[in-house]
Formats: sequence, C-alpha cells, structure tokens
Amino acid sequence: MQQLSRPIYLACAFVLFQICSTQANAAGVDLLIRQARVIDGTGSPWFLSDVAVDDGKIVALGAHLDIEADQVVQAAGRVLTPGFIDVHTHVESSDRRDGLQRLPRADNYMLDGVTTIVTGNCGGSEIDVAAWRDSLDNLGINVATLIGHNSVRRSVMGLDDRAPTADEMEKMQVVVEQAMRDGAVGLSTGLLYVPGTYANTEEVIKLAKVASRYGGVYASHMREQGAKLHDSIDETVRIGREAKMPVQISHLKVKGPTRWGSIGSALELIESYRREGVDVVVDAYPYERASSNLGLNMPRWSVAGGADQIAARIEDTDTHARIVGEMKEMLAANGYTDYSFAAVAQYKPQPSYNGRTISEINRLTERPASIDNEIVTILDMMVEGGAAGNSQGASMVYHYMSMDDVDTIYRYPNTAVASDGTINEFGRGHPHPRSYGTNAKVFADFVRERHVLTLEDAVRRMTSLPARTFSFQDRGIIRPGFVADLVLFDPETVTDKATFSEPHQYTEGFDYVIVNGVVTVADGELTDNRPGQFVSNIGAKQ
Ligand SMILES: [Zn+2]
Repeated sequence: MQQLSRPIYLACAFVLFQICSTQANAAGVDLLIRQARVIDGTGSPWFLSDVAVDDGKIVALGAHLDIEADQVVQAAGRVLTPGFIDVHTHVESSDRRDGLQRLPRADNYMLDGVTTIVTGNCGGSEIDVAAWRDSLDNLGINVATLIGHNSVRRSVMGLDDRAPTADEMEKMQVVVEQAMRDGAVGLSTGLLYVPGTYANTEEVIKLAKVASRYGGVYASHMREQGAKLHDSIDETVRIGREAKMPVQISHLKVKGPTRWGSIGSALELIESYRREGVDVVVDAYPYERASSNLGLNMPRWSVAGGADQIAARIEDTDTHARIVGEMKEMLAANGYTDYSFAAVAQYKPQPSYNGRTISEINRLTERPASIDNEIVTILDMMVEGGAAGNSQGASMVYHYMSMDDVDTIYRYPNTAVASDGTINEFGRGHPHPRSYGTNAKVFADFVRERHVLTLEDAVRRMTSLPARTFSFQDRGIIRPGFVADLVLFDPETVTDKATFSEPHQYTEGFDYVIVNGVVTVADGELTDNRPGQFVSNIGAKQ
C-alpha cells in the first residue's frame, strides 16, 4: 500500500480495498480520466483528481493515479460529474415515431448529459412492465419506470367518472403489485388527467400501499396546481404518509398570472411537512412554460370517456353552453384574458397549426378575436381530433408560470432538476425545448448567467438528490464502487440550443458522456455504443 497516494488509500479504506489495491498496482483499467475538476454530486466543492473506471464501475480516485488504461481522456481542467438522473420523463410514447422503443439511443437526453431516466410519470406508464422491459433493446441510456395510476385505472375500468367496485380495486392492486415485482420503482399519479382525476384520495392510498411494500416512491402530478395548490400538496403528502413511502412532487409550479409570486408559501408548506418527518421532495424543469394536452382547458367532467363522448358533449347545445361557461370561469380565475398563452406543439389533423397560439389559430379561421371565438376554436380542434390526447391528438405548450417562481423553486434545496420531456423524432412537430436542453439550461442560465445556483449545487440536483429519492443506491455520486455514469464538460461553455421557436436543437458542450463505464459521447459526438440498461431501485425491495 505504501506507493498509494492518500486519496487512493482513503478510497480503498472506504469501500473497495480489494479492487483498488489490485487496480492501482496492476496495469489496465478500461478508462482513465486525468486531471478533472471532480464535482462528486454530493454538493461538495470540486477537487482535482484522476478517475479510473473498470468493468462499468468507478474503481479509483486520486490526484495522480499510477494506473495504465485502455483509454485515457485528458480532462484538462474540465469538470467531471456523475451522469444526470432525470426522474421525470415520458418516453413510452404510443406514437410509433417517438419514444424509447423507436429511438433507444435517446440522443436528445444523451447529448444533454443524461445517463438514467425514470419514465411512467404523471400516471401514464406501460401496464405490463416485464413485457416492456424485455422489449427494450439497444438502449443508449439507463431507464427505470414507475407504474402509472391512470394507466392501471384505464386498463381495469376504462375512462369512467366513478369510483371502482371492490373487485375493480382489487384488480388494480394486482396490476400494481405485478409491476413492482417486475421492477417498477414506484407509483405515479396524474390526478389532473382522465381517468385518474376521478379517483378519490383513498383509492390512491390503497394502490400506493402496494407499491410501498416493494420499496417504491410515490411520484405525483398533483390534482391542481393553481387555486388549490396547497390542498393538492396536503393530499400528496397524506398519500405518501399513509402508504409510508417517499414522496416526489412532480414539476412543482403555480399556474396563472394571478398567482405568480406565491410559490414561496407552497415551499414553506412542503418544508413544514419535512419538519414533521415526511420524506417529501420536488422536481422542476427550468422553463416558465408547461406542456400538456388540449383538453386541459376544459372542465374535468366534460372530458370523461373517449373522444366520441367528449365530442357528443361539445355538440349537445345545453352541455356546450355549460362547457363554455366553465371554460370562461377557468380562464378568468387564472388571470388570462385570452388563449395567447396556449400554443400548439403538435396537432395531428392540421400540422400547419404547430407552433401557433390558439389566438393565432382563431384569427387564421377568420373569426374575430374574442374569448368566445377562441373557445370555439379549441372545441372545434377537440372534435376534429384533439380529444385523442397528447400523443395522438393535440399536444400543447402553455405559458403558465413566471420565471421568478421557477427561480424560487430552484433555490429550494430539495428540488431536483428533471425535464418532464420525451424522445422526439428530430425535426418533427414543435415540442417543448425541455426534452433537448434542460440540464444545459440550468448550467448556462441558472448557474453561469444569473447565479441562481452554484455549479456544485446544480450538479447535486441532477445526481445524488434524485438517486437518493429513487433508491438508485450505486448511482449519482463519483465514488469508488459506484456505477461509472459520468459527464465531462466545460461549465463556461456548455449551452442549451433548443428554444420555444426552434426546439429541435441538441445541447452543445457535454464533451464526454459515459454510461455504465462505456463512452457514449466522445468529443461532443455520439458513439455507436449502447450500454443502457433497465434499472430498478436496487436494495429498496424487501
Ligand atoms: Zn405531469
């Protein structure tokens, strides 16, 4: 041991005496990164170190490692961080041209430094997790999934606006249990969306308890993120508390100009629950616009059932009037005077609408600008295909939030960085830029330009914080024995290129991305390596 430097010795003493001492004395690890400013993911300040990787794991750290390697990368002062763990994605797209099965290298995430994603959020997931897991092939990045309440409910009781029977409840529990056995990392809900919105709190608790037995997380797109935001936080915490599981509040926000500036009180409420001992954390994407479906503008009762039932309600004179009345109330309550905050990302029946706001589309149809006419435009679009939902009908980008609130959320120490994005076919449609640029935007805008976060704290929110919540116990920190998911970059130059007007642009500046010890991006270019795996929350299961 004498020839080992002190950091190596400590690393060895800490975890892996056997491996480190062997590696340090013998020639030949797979990869050696020299002289990086290592930001280890814990929030600790950077330190200069070499990092040795072998057989998929980090095997040694030290200021001057005396190790031979098959491949040596000179970091030359660039920062080396754990690969980013994005716990909020939607990559199980039912659209045959998008999603992980069609685009398994996940170029947009890879080039944004992401090495592990969690999908199945907001209540929407594959039901048969084993079949989905087995169907995944040639993955570039690691993927985990939640089991989604909306998908489970839909599979058992359709899109009905009612409570489940005892038999249906039991069937849903069986589906959740099987998904957890097959490797799901927890239960997600989307209590704003059909059909999850028709579930009461008790229904969700019963299902969460099943996921809890298998070490799962409860991740929730909450019931309401405007006037009832605090009630929604209370409900979310209650579910986690009664089911005894960690709570991840998804994409925290407060919607509508009338409420901008008030997110601090929601964070105080969350923090008060933490003081009581509830394990609740948050994720958020670094943009002031959200993305969702078109039907979100309509009252919840009016979007029950399938597209035909929605169309029938819109076309019925009395019901139509009730829908229009409630839509006006919703608009006013959120502080909007028209629908210019709502832009089409992708509208299958009429692609020329892509990128335009509802107000602009209304003018295109040569109707005078008025709230009534804009509502007619929305309802027409719903009837003509928009009711089919996000991937099949209409996906939208909504200017719901203020950047000040987003900054406040990001300053909260327990907020993880997550994209809420997907894997789009490059160049198609007009998606939210978050799928391409989330992590780079945090470094370029929140760290470098506006100093909202320090570099080390930003990295922590992309790595060890999400890894901890989801029990990825050997990822998210640069430490011997941990999986070698790594990113090398210059924090002075890394830049998100994707914008709302030109979203299909890859991030530039994540020079090296390493997944499970294998180089997937070298000198800023994608390699052909596909080392990604289906991952679960190792060690959390009973
Ligand atoms: Zn959501």
